Amino acid sequence: MSKSITAKVTAHGAWQIVTLSGPLNENAGEILKPLVSKVGRQCLLDFANVQSVNSCGIAEWVQFLDKLPAGSEVIYDRCPPHIVSTLNLMPSLLEKAKVRSVQRVYVCASGHKKAAVIQFDVTKPMAVPSSGTVACDKCGAQAHPDSPDEDYFEFAAAG
Ligand SMILES: [Zn+2]
Repeated sequence: MSKSITAKVTAHGAWQIVTLSGPLNENAGEILKPLVSKVGRQCLLDFANVQSVNSCGIAEWVQFLDKLPAGSEVIYDRCPPHIVSTLNLMPSLLEKAKVRSVQRVYVCASGHKKAAVIQFDVTKPMAVPSSGTVACDKCGAQAHPDSPDEDYFEFAAAG
């Protein structure tokens, strides 16, 4: 039996925080369909523990957004790189939603990798942020983003 994503919903004021974990695949509909009535009009989807995403999972994600009432507010939080790639490929995922934060991978000259979080201001229109550089945890050298900002944040340029 193939695995499915799980969703844990916790209330935070008027917002419902949805913590997603596991693979976002063809089985996601069983989880996402009942979620529509649970999340109300304001929901934040935490993608930090979503391990993978495939085309069937994306289709279920699009359907979930379609079924939310008009005027719903949706925020995507802590998106890992494979979710960021999906947002770049599927601008429709951002028609009703805004991105609050994404994970960014930095690499130093010695090839050490370091992950950091890039925050967005959801009260403002989306724009491509500057990732800058960070200090490598292992050798202290400057670590640069592993891809250009214009490519990684293509979804924000469209917004
Ligand atoms: Zn290093």
